[in-house]
This record gives sequence, C-alpha cells and structure tokens, in this order.
Amino acid sequence: MKIDSPEAYVESLRALERRIYLLGERVENPVDHPMIRPSMNAMAETYNRGDEPEAEELLFASSHLTGGRISRFTHIHQNPDDLVKKVLMQRLLGRRTATCFQRCVGMDGFNALYSVTYECDQEHGTEYHERLKEYLRFVQEENLVVDGAMTDVKGDRGLRPAEQHDPDLFVHVVERRADGIVVRGAKAHQTGALNSHHILVMPTTAMRKEEADYAVSFAVPADAEGITFVLGRQPSDTRKLEGSPLDVGNPKYGSQEALIIFDDVFVPWERVFMCGEYDQSGKVVERFAAYHRQSYGGCKVGVGDVLVGAAQLAALYQGVEGASHVRDKITEMIHLNETLFSCGIACSARGVPTPSGCYLVDVLLANVCKQNVTRFPFEIARLLQDIAGGLVVTMPSQKDFENPEIAPYLEKYLRGSADIPTMDRIKVLKFIENMTVGCGAAAYLTESIHGAGSPQAQRIMIRRLADLEDKVRLVKRLVDLD
Ligand code: SF4
Ligand code: FE
Repeated sequence: MKIDSPEAYVESLRALERRIYLLGERVENPVDHPMIRPSMNAMAETYNRGDEPEAEELLFASSHLTGGRISRFTHIHQNPDDLVKKVLMQRLLGRRTATCFQRCVGMDGFNALYSVTYECDQEHGTEYHERLKEYLRFVQEENLVVDGAMTDVKGDRGLRPAEQHDPDLFVHVVERRADGIVVRGAKAHQTGALNSHHILVMPTTAMRKEEADYAVSFAVPADAEGITFVLGRQPSDTRKLEGSPLDVGNPKYGSQEALIIFDDVFVPWERVFMCGEYDQSGKVVERFAAYHRQSYGGCKVGVGDVLVGAAQLAALYQGVEGASHVRDKITEMIHLNETLFSCGIACSARGVPTPSGCYLVDVLLANVCKQNVTRFPFEIARLLQDIAGGLVVTMPSQKDFENPEIAPYLEKYLRGSADIPTMDRIKVLKFIENMTVGCGAAAYLTESIHGAGSPQAQRIMIRRLADLEDKVRLVKRLVDLD
C-alpha cells in the first residue's frame, strides 16, 4: 500500500490540484483550511492502525485480486465474515472520531459495481468487470480514497431525468468519442468529496430506455479537468475559524459534504463501468444502497457509544448519576444503540454470494437497519440533551473563560460537582452541544435520516421484499382458509 499512514494520506492530498470553493472563495490549500481539516483528520483515521487490539484485523484485509494486504475500505467482500468485519470496523472508527469518517461510500460503490458489472458483461457482452478489477487493483495498491458518488441534484422530483427542464440535472453522457466519453451534471451532498483522490460515479436511479445516456458509471481523479467542488455549510461551522477549540466541541474531527460539478469532464474508456446499459442501473442503486444502509449499523453505533459515554460523564459531573431516571435514560440509550448494531450485524451475517463471488448483505435486513437509524439517533440525542441540561445551549464562549475579569465568576457559578473542575464539565457539555445541535449533528442526525436514502426509500424496499403473500398463507393454513 503506497499510502500507509495518516501523515502520508494528508500529504497525498496536497499533490492534487482541485477547484474548490468555500464561503464564496476559491480554496488554494484545502489541507490546512480550519473548516476542512477536521474532516480530513477523520478520514485519516482510516489509515491509522490505532491501538485497539482488533484494529489490524478489522481495518485491513487480504486482496482477492493480488493476495496483498490492503485497506478494508478497498476490499471486495468474500464471505459473510467480511461483511461483519466491515460493520465492526465502522463501529471502531465511529468510536474514535464521533463523526462520519467518509470513506465507506467508495467501498460500498466498488462492491455494488463489482457484482453488477459482472452480470452486465454476461447479459450484454460488455467488458466492464475486467476494467473495474484493473482499476480496483490500482486503488488497492495506491491505497486511495475513492468517493462513491450517487445522488444527483434531481431538479423537479416529479419528473424523470430526461423530462427535466435542464438535461444536466442528472449526470449524463454528452459525447461518445473513440477514446472515451464526456460527461456533464452534478452530484449533491457528496460525503468526503474534498478528502478523496478519485470519484466513482454511479447512476442515481433505475433508468429507462430513453434515459440511456443517464445510465453511466465511471471513475475520474478528483483534479480532472472540468470538476468543481463547493463545500456545504454545517451548523456553527465558522466556530472552527475563531481559534477557540472549546467552542467547537469536537475540535479534532468533523465530517464534510460537497456539491461536485462535472462540466464536460472527459473519461477514458478504461475507467467507464456502465454506458447506456439502462437495465443495469437500478441494480447498482439497490446494491449500493443496501451496503450503505448496512454501514450505518456500524458507524452511527460507534458515535452512539461516545454519546452514551458523554451522558454518563455529564451525569457524573453534575451529581445526578445515581438518580434512577437518569440511569434508566442511559440504559435506554444503550438499548437503542445496540439495537442498531444488531441490525448491522444481522444483515451482514445473512449475506449471500452474487454470481461475481462478491457477497451482498441481506437487503431486507439492511433496509430495516437504516430505517431504525432514521429514528433511534434522534431519541439517543434527545435523552442526551435531557440528561445534560439547558446549559448545553447557554454556555459562554472559550474567550469568556479566558477573560480574567469574568473567568472567576464562570469558574464559580458554572461548577457542577464540587470535586470536578468547571472546565471539565464545560468540555463535555460543549461536546454534547456539537453532537446534538452543532456541526456534529449534521453527521449524527441529518445524515442518519437522509444518508444512504431517505426514510421512504427504505419503506419501499421493506414492503417490496417482505413477501406479504407468504405471511397471508401462514394464517390461512392455521385457521383453515382457502
Ligand atoms: Fe461511512 Fe457512516 Fe460516513 Fe456513510 S455515514 S461514509 S457509513 S461513516
Ligand atoms: Fe453517509
């Protein structure tokens, strides 16, 4: 693996020459930008062996292509155990960072495309699978971060891609050349886009015959000609510019989403993995979504572990850890969090092989997993705020604590338990503020609703896969109905 440490990863990003905009200005040095760096630090943890005893086994795998040691983020799942380890790895990294570490979208994209390109080649006589394997070998050897980009901007949600007032509202092929294709469009809310070396584009929905130009999948370097990134805002994000880490709450780590604009980007054929096979596009969407819905049963659970810890600390620092209702609320937080984990593990353990050899999660259970993720983190955050108290959103700033005229008052009046320094209590409450209403809430709450598809998308899949007729048959047999 060429990039083999967090430091080497950060340095590798410096070599990219990208067009990035933030707060209306072009960013020449994203690596050291205080609003971007925390998200880069979270991504860098995927390169960090760390000190957890299980880290080596979880973060790394053996390549089925070369036999070499690779990052699990570039691995194709070979059995249910690989799927379970993926979830365990995500929980581990969620615990380290308390945020979205962003690298899973590329992993889920590769695994979805791996089986679909195989099946596409069988049905259409194309050669996408070998191309994808060749590209994957390169990604594994270099140990690159690849952004899996699926969600189009979509325009009028009531209209199909080809019916939009502007044909570019879904990424599509605008020119086919002897040496490759030219694409145009934009992908929205792209997790970790600015921290990625490459972008792996997939279609956003099942396309129809007249939408063949929209059935396109390809990979490009993040600094390819014609690509522009615009970083999305998050609540309280400019606190990172104030030089007051206390007020940021989780100062080292953060998450990131960006809009990626493809303005006539050229892609050579060897990096094209679908081009016009509209009947394959729905499969890519369903499988990618299933893998990413599984993912949330790991990453958000790791963040949940930290939040349970924050609830316990806040209770302790404020002298209420013995109150029975507080103990019960923390038990409820644990119960909700472990329920999410159970779903992540269940859909993994029941994974099945696809004809390509790559294992796919149990799709029904993966959708149940993510549906629960659209709810339980909100209840966990509610209970955490309940335990922490209103001070979470009324605390003075770090600068107030540094002002000698008022600091003694703050020390005196914001103290909780007598044996706990005031600043310890404030640090925990600032962290809770970040995680429930600040930047951290973007990753823990809003992403839990909309990441990997909004709630209704899972309900459609749950209904479709549930085999209702079978359940009706069960009753009929028991009560002797025709
Ligand atoms: Fe990974 Fe979770 Fe972030 Fe998705 S939301 S990229 S699964 S950490
Ligand atoms: Fe996500």
